Amino acid sequence: MKINVDWDKCTGMGMCESLAPDVFEVDDDGSLILHAEEVPDGQEDEVREAVAACPTEALSLES
Ligand code: SF4
Repeated sequence: MKINVDWDKCTGMGMCESLAPDVFEVDDDGSLILHAEEVPDGQEDEVREAVAACPTEALSLES
């Protein structure tokens, strides 16, 4: 399952990082770093929670 980021919508709030830190990281500048393009095995629940929690709806999943 692929992780899509709408970079225009991401404001670097970091909710995704707090829920799925292996996949999402917000650097000191508030820029999102995506550590995986595909949802890693065993992390689907965390990533789904992160996608749902993003306040700007910048994240989506594509199967
Ligand atoms: S929670 Fe949403 S807005 Fe915040 S860093 Fe993650 S993708 Fe960007």
